[in-house]
Amino acid sequence: VIAVNAVLAIAAVPTVLLARRFIMHAQLLAQSRLDTKTGLLNAATWEREAEVEIARAVRVGIPLAVALVNIDHFKVVNDTYGHLIGDKALRAVTDAMQSQLRGSDMAGRFGGEEFAVLLPQAREQDALMVAERLRSHIAGLSIPVDDHDETAGCVTLTISVGVASLEGERRELTDLLAAADAALYRAKETGRNKTHVISAGTHVSLDAA
Ligand code: GH3
Ligand code: MG
Repeated sequence: VIAVNAVLAIAAVPTVLLARRFIMHAQLLAQSRLDTKTGLLNAATWEREAEVEIARAVRVGIPLAVALVNIDHFKVVNDTYGHLIGDKALRAVTDAMQSQLRGSDMAGRFGGEEFAVLLPQAREQDALMVAERLRSHIAGLSIPVDDHDETAGCVTLTISVGVASLEGERRELTDLLAAADAALYRAKETGRNKTHVISAGTHVSLDAA
């Protein structure tokens, strides 16, 4: 516009400022939905969107499952290698989740080293399979402590996963989370590096063995 007519350029300023304001607003909105460290949905956004998906699944009568993922002995990683390497390990787990999950699955960071995954249309067996694939993938990762120095060694990690699907009286996010949390607790209690599900009073536990 300046090349054509300097007066027109002045007239264009308000439009440019307005457009910039809209773009910044959209960026801020996107950022506030996300966890800054991992780029996954933050807990509040995940919960809000999970509630919508669960209500739809119940209304339409389609399957859905939730998985709670917790890194095993993560404190030891921080204590051994420091927080920066801990953060790198967190991002490696995030990348693994993004590569192992379907586009329609919804992952969020729930707490420090805990993640929640919503698996739309997944029956219990499907969710167990996905969780197991993620668990064994993460158990196989070697995260370099120093990208430029091979002698610095690698960090290995395992995760425990608790799975719960919509069934019987379980029709709300809080019910699913409570069941997934109880399953996660059992996975931890029975040795970690496991996927566990509690359905209709029966327990199923999967691990590498
Ligand atoms: P468990 O197998 O029972 O889950 O043991 P854990 O060590 O993973 O669990 P614990 O709750 O004892 O410790 C969690 C650790 O996660 C402690 C905390 O410093 C670390 N952590 C939480 N958030 C972050 C983070 O953003 N970055 C890093 N580097 N560490 C974090
Ligand atoms: Mg942990």
